[in-house]
This record gives sequence, structure tokens and C-alpha cells, in this order.
Amino acid sequence: MQPQQALIRLHRGRIAEVVPRAGEVRICTEAWEHVYPEAWVLPGFVDAHGHLVHLGLELQQPRLHHCRSAQECVEALRTVQPNRGEWLVASGWNHEHWEPPQLPTAALLDELFPDLPVVLRRVDGHALWVNSAALRRAGISASTPDPPGGWIVRTRSGAPTGVLVDAAMEPVLRLIPEPTPEQLRQAILQAASLCLQYGITEVHDMDVAPEWVPLFHELAEAGQLPIRVQSYVRGQRGEWDAAGLLPTVGEFFRLRGVKFYADGALGSYGAALLEPYADRPEHRGLLLWEPGQLERAVRRAVEAGWHIAIHAIGDAANRMVVQLYWKLRQEGILAERQLLRVEHAQVVHPEDLEPFAESGAIASVQPIHCLSDAAMAQKRLGTERTAWAYRWRSLLQVGIPLAAGSDFPIESPDPRLGIAAFCFRQPPHWEHPWHPEECLEMSQALQAYTIWAHLAADTDERRGLLLPGYDADLVVVDRNLAAAQSPEEIAATRILAVYVAGIRRFAAIG
Ligand SMILES: [Zn+2]
Repeated sequence: MQPQQALIRLHRGRIAEVVPRAGEVRICTEAWEHVYPEAWVLPGFVDAHGHLVHLGLELQQPRLHHCRSAQECVEALRTVQPNRGEWLVASGWNHEHWEPPQLPTAALLDELFPDLPVVLRRVDGHALWVNSAALRRAGISASTPDPPGGWIVRTRSGAPTGVLVDAAMEPVLRLIPEPTPEQLRQAILQAASLCLQYGITEVHDMDVAPEWVPLFHELAEAGQLPIRVQSYVRGQRGEWDAAGLLPTVGEFFRLRGVKFYADGALGSYGAALLEPYADRPEHRGLLLWEPGQLERAVRRAVEAGWHIAIHAIGDAANRMVVQLYWKLRQEGILAERQLLRVEHAQVVHPEDLEPFAESGAIASVQPIHCLSDAAMAQKRLGTERTAWAYRWRSLLQVGIPLAAGSDFPIESPDPRLGIAAFCFRQPPHWEHPWHPEECLEMSQALQAYTIWAHLAADTDERRGLLLPGYDADLVVVDRNLAAAQSPEEIAATRILAVYVAGIRRFAAIG
């Protein structure tokens, strides 16, 4: 995959002709022509794992991503009004970036918010920081036992400190009023238009709640969705089934798959590891399913014709998912283009690489996580296992296709940051790259954001290449990315224009 300089003639939303042309990009139909001197053109970027509704809702909420201490988070909320019924909801805190890197407490919030329930989601979505008012309403006290698949962080005497991990978040989350349909509609449109500005023409939208589906259909049919959305509906509690959903087709919105979780995240010690955490030797994290249970749930979704996407971070979770996929593949019950995806595939044991490849599964990876997580992952995993983390080149070498995404809103949807992470693995403020042996070539990074990502939603026969007959989903940039020499150069690339289905939906000003 190389950026090109060319004349691209469009017809009815598709590419009709591509003629190489030195020094410019020229895009035209019978009715108009756009000329970009010195520019380069690529197929539109795909984000193969994002959360549109959550991104949009977060754009409407206070963001704590840049806070450098718990106190700074509290300060950032000082003037904020309740935003979800009578609750205050915000997100983005990450104690790994604080000095000292300690989990926060309810007491810090109680002074400012004695009565208003406050719920602050950790950046990875796998933990909540709440105040005492929220704990009271949820009925969580020293006598509340840890639920299966989660835990309540406690003081020495057993009292909850105000941090709830994975399944322990449920009693609080249940109480937060749902956003109104209008809030949701606005959230989807705001998120989609932000993606568009980054050159993203298609999103694989993960963990979609069945009740959002009619809104997406409505927006797509009204021609209001500016990007294409492949939807992966929630499956962890059989949501797709209870709602009576089945896969659908459509140009801008399709129900494609069902999404499950095999484990939690590394940051909150929820990722399931084969051996204990290096920095918490009594703990291995949690598998959220017994293998037999997961198999039954996945089989049901396979039989209904869905693609399958399973979140797996730790090496134990990846092993469980790979073994299940391998078994399904051997049995031959999958339809010809029915896809199996491992979401994140973050820590993969060397012995699982071959079975992963043999299962025909696709690794849906988020390169930017590697940079944000480097210091934390090294602590959690220790030296040996660190080499098994974010191992993109090893996955490719055994023949596993990589689909790239950002997991927005956990990270910025900006593909330029992901491409830089793929190629350089240079965490901010580090002097050296992190395991540079796992870096990708630029052409591979671009494929992971285009043609390979389309492969992961079975849209690769019509999208992801600049060829006649392919959909006219294009991004025009100001430089030849293939020649970029540094992460900074990649990040500085300007997105000049974005076309979806042959219509220019974004153009840089000036
Ligand atoms: Zn996600």
C-alpha cells in the first residue's frame, strides 16, 4: 500500500478510473473537479474498533484525560453541573499518569459533592471512581461481597475506597439514567464527524446496544451518517438475541457481528494471565467465562450468521479464544466468509501464535495503546512477557491479518497517531522505542488501516484499494506518508479532504 498522485475519475460513488499523475491529486466526476497540488491520495482509513456512542457522549461530558493527579480531576469538576439526570458522569482518569500513581478515593470527591452522585470512568472503561453518594445509592458497603468477574477496592478494614473494577461497576452503572434518544443521535453525529476530520471513512463500532440500532438505521436512511458504520452488537449477556436482532446489509450502516468479552484490561489487573501479575504476585486477573459457556454463546451467534468479535487482552484470555476459534474452524460450521476476530490480542503466548493463525482469526489491534500502556504493561508483565505484548510483527509473520483501530474514546481516533505507533513504537518521553523488533513497515501500517481492516468486516472486495469498481472512499493528505522519517512527521500530516461514496464530506480550510 502506497499513497498515490493520480487523477481519479468517479462515477456513481465508485472509482471509475485511476491515472497516475505526478505532482498532484485530481478527483473528478462528470459534474465537478477538485485539484490538490502536491497532495497524495489513499483509500479512506478504517477504525476497526471504536465506540461511536461513547465517543459522542464523552464529547458532551467533562474529560479527565489530561489531569495529572486525583486532585486535578476534582478541580476539573468544580463548576460542572449534573449531566445525566441528577448524576454527574465524566471519564478519562488514569492513575498511571499521576504522581504518585495511586488509585483515587471517594473521600476526595465527597468534600465537593456530598450529595450529588458522581461517577468517573477510568480511561480504559474497566474501573469506576465514585463518591460516597454513589456508593450509598448502589448499596455498596463493607459487607458487600466482590461479585464474580470484578472487585471492590477496599481499605484494610474492608470498607469500599470508591474504586470499582469490572463486574463490580454494575450496581452503579445500572442506576445512571440512560441518555435520551436526542442525546444519542447527537452523540453519533458528533463522533462520526470527528472521525471524518481524521480521514476515517468507516468505523467498526463495538458493543452496540440493541436500543441504539434504530437510531443508526434512521440516520443512515436519512443520509445523515457521513461515514460508514459496521456494527458489532453486544453479546456478553445475550443482548442481540433478547432483542431479536439478525445481520443486515446496507451502504452506510450494517449490523455485522456480535461482541463478547473474555477478560478485562491490564491497567486494572482484570486481564486474565496464565501466570501471576509481575507487580501483584497473588493475582492472575479474571476470565469472564468458563470455556464451555463461552462456546455455547458463540455457537449460537455463529448459527445466526454473525461475525464474532471477542475481547481478549491477557495471554490466558487469548488462549481460550484461540482454542475456541480453532475448534469452530476444524468443525467446519463457519460460513465461507464468516469472520472470527480477536479484539486487542494484546498478550499472546508464543505457543498460541500458530493455532491463532490456523484458526483463520483476524487480530484487531490498537497500536496507540502500546505507547500509552508501555510503562504500565512492563510493570504488570515483567521482562519476559513484555516481549509477547503488542506483538504485531510476530502476528503478521505467522500469517494473522491485522486490522487497526484506536478503541476511541479510550484513545484519540486519529489514525496518524496509530500509524506512527505501528512504525516507531516510541512512547512519549522515552529515549528508546519499545521492542522495535515488533514495528511494522509503513506499507503494512497503511494496509492495517485500509484493506486489512476491510477484510475484518468482509468489505474488502469493494473497499480499501484505489482501483476501478471500488467505492470512492478516499483521503487526500499533504505529503507522501511512505517517505515519513519520524513519528512527528506522520503526526504532522494534514488531512486535506475526505470523500465517502464519492461525495466530499470534509475539506481542510485554507
Ligand atoms: Zn473497545
